[in-house]
Amino acid sequence: MSDRSDSPRLRLGIDLDGVVADFNAGWIRLHRDEFGSDLHPDMVVTWDGLHTLGGFADMRAFWRWARGSAERPSIFRHLDPYPDALETIDRLERAGHDIVIVTTKPSWARSDTLRWLADHAIPTDEIHITDRKSNVACDVYLDDSPHVLPELAEHRADATICRFVRPWNSPIAGVHDITSWAEFHRIVTEHSPPGR
Ligand SMILES: [Mg+2]
Repeated sequence: MSDRSDSPRLRLGIDLDGVVADFNAGWIRLHRDEFGSDLHPDMVVTWDGLHTLGGFADMRAFWRWARGSAERPSIFRHLDPYPDALETIDRLERAGHDIVIVTTKPSWARSDTLRWLADHAIPTDEIHITDRKSNVACDVYLDDSPHVLPELAEHRADATICRFVRPWNSPIAGVHDITSWAEFHRIVTEHSPPGR
């Protein structure tokens, strides 16, 4: 089946951590290597409890560790892509859509974020590192954050907003739930703006 279609060119606003990059598997692998811990990614079920799981005093201490040192880069360089993420992004880009990366990161993570995107050859001309994602206009959004999704639903009501279902987020009125990249591909492919 061809990827070419008569469907409109869409701006796809795609988050990274928890959507394209497996943040939890990445930091937990590093934690196991450095501390000999027995953590597993399935143990992450909340948005704000990473420090408790990792044995850090608070999230500031977690991020101090995550930031890296002279010996190793930050955790944002240690993340593996989720299954099907890169293939689906490539396929959507080849179909004519614009891949717009919209991610929230600590400011110290800028260069490792850009390196990660280059390491994985993400086909994008546009990268936004921001904690106010609704400022970046897109036709479709894909995110997992329990803070970002309501903000998008409020300020980008005309867009198609997709929640990548994870243990740390919940359903939101007007937001599509997806559990795989195949489902995201289908939502984008079937997308049709009003009047078409
Ligand atoms: Mg995320």
